Amino acid sequence: MKYISTRGRAPVLGFEEAMLTGLARDGGLYLPERIPVMRAGEIRALEGVSYEEAAFRVMWPFIGEAFTEDEFRGIIARAYAGFGHAARAPLVQLAPGHFLLELFHGPTLAFKDFAMQLIGQLFEFSLRRSGKRVCIVGATSGDTGSAAIEAFRGLGAVDVFILYPHGRVSEVQRRQMTTPPEDNVHALAVTGDFDDAQARVKDMFNDFAFRDAVGLAGVNSINWARVLAQVVYYFTSAVSLGAPDRKVSFTVPTGNFGDVFAGYIARRMGLPIDRLVVATNQNDILHRCLSTGEYRPDGVIPSISPSMDIQVSSNFERALYYAYGQDGGAVAQVMEELKAGGFSVSQGALEALREVFDSDRCDEEATRATIRRTWEATGELLCPHSAVGVHVAEAHRHAGVPMITLATAHPAKFPAAVEAASGIRPPLPERMADLYEREERVTRVANDLVAIETLIKERIAN
Ligand SMILES: *Cc1c(COP(=O)(O)O)cnc(C)c1O
Repeated sequence: MKYISTRGRAPVLGFEEAMLTGLARDGGLYLPERIPVMRAGEIRALEGVSYEEAAFRVMWPFIGEAFTEDEFRGIIARAYAGFGHAARAPLVQLAPGHFLLELFHGPTLAFKDFAMQLIGQLFEFSLRRSGKRVCIVGATSGDTGSAAIEAFRGLGAVDVFILYPHGRVSEVQRRQMTTPPEDNVHALAVTGDFDDAQARVKDMFNDFAFRDAVGLAGVNSINWARVLAQVVYYFTSAVSLGAPDRKVSFTVPTGNFGDVFAGYIARRMGLPIDRLVVATNQNDILHRCLSTGEYRPDGVIPSISPSMDIQVSSNFERALYYAYGQDGGAVAQVMEELKAGGFSVSQGALEALREVFDSDRCDEEATRATIRRTWEATGELLCPHSAVGVHVAEAHRHAGVPMITLATAHPAKFPAAVEAASGIRPPLPERMADLYEREERVTRVANDLVAIETLIKERIAN
C-alpha cells in the first residue's frame, strides 16, 4: 500500500515510512492511495473472534510489505496485552437501541491507548530492525501525551517529548505524563493553550534542518497508523450489533477529528454505518463548520472536557480531502486561507460531508446533567467527554438504527468534574491506585520555537 499527502506535493511513501514521518513534507497528512474494501462475508466473519484477530484482519490490507503476517500479529498481541478488559473494547447498553463503547480499559484510561500502544510496538519493531533512532515530539491536550509516554517509556531507540498546555490538563493526566521515571521520556509544560502547543510541534516539523538533525517523528493524531488502529473498534462493535446485516450509527466526542475520521474510513471500507455524529463541547468549531460551511477559529474556552478544547482540528483536513474529490490543490488552498483566519467550505464539499456526518454541541451544564442522569438511570459513570457524546447521541437517534456512543475516557481521569456533577468520586483502577504518591518530573518552557528546539537538542545530546 502506498500513502499520499492530502496536499498532493509530498513524496509517496510506504506504510512504515508514513508512520515514522507523521506529517508530510508539504504540510499535509498521509492517506492510503486507495481504501481497501471488506466484503460482507468478511465483515460477518468477524463475529465472535478476539479483538486482536479482528484488528489483524481489518488493518492487514493497509500494511503492505512492511511486516510479515506473523510479525504483525505479534505486534498487535503485545499492544493490547496490558488492557484491563478481555474484550478490549466492551459494549454496554444504556437504553433501548443506545449503546456505549467503553474505550477506556487501556493503561492510561483513554481511547488513545488503542492507537498509541500499537504505535509503540510498531516503532519498536521497525527501529530495531533498521538500527535507527528517532525523536518523537507531540502536543497534547492531556490524553495523547500520557498515552504516548506510557507506550514509549523505556524503549531503547526513542526519545519522547510531550508538550502540554501548562495548567490546562487534569491532575491525573499530568501525573501520568510526569511520573514515569524513565529518562527517554520528557514532559514539557508550555505556556499557552493546546493550539499553541500543537502549532509549535507543526513548526518543528516544518523546520527541516531541525527535523533531520534530531530524527523527528510524530505520533499525534495526524499519524496515519493511529487513525488505522481506531478503525478496528468500529468494526468489532458494529458486528456485535448485527453488521453487516444491520446498519448502525456512531456518536463520537470530537476534538482533533481523528477518532471520528477512523469511523469514516470504516464506512468507506464497507461497514454499513448510517450516520457519524460529531459531538463537540462549547468549543464547537466543527459543529459550526458542518452547519454553516464556515471554518473560523475564534479562541479556546476551557471546559470540563479538556481533551476536546481545540479550535484547529488537524484531522478534519483528511475529511476535506475526500469532500473535495481528492483534490490536493484545493485542500492546500483552504489550508492557506486558514492561516489567514479561516475558510469557507465549497457547496459541493459541504454536501459531501453532510452525506456522512451529523453534528451537534453540548454545553457545560448539559454535560454535567448527562453525567448525573446517566448515573441515576444506568449506574454507568461517564467522563465529561463521553457525556458530551451521550447527550448529542440522544438527539440524533433514528428509529430502527442502533446508536453507539464512544466512551473515550474513564471517569477517574476527570474525578473533580465527575464528582461535581454526580456526587460520586470515581476511584482509580487498582493497577494505578498509587498515582498521587509518585514523584513528578516536568520542565516549564515558553511558547517559543527556538527555546523548545534548543531544549530538545540539549536533552538528546546527553
Ligand atoms: C482525544 C480525546 C477526544 C477527541 O478525540 P479526537 O480524535 O481528537 O477527535 C475525546 N475524548 C477524549 C477523552 C480524548 O482523549
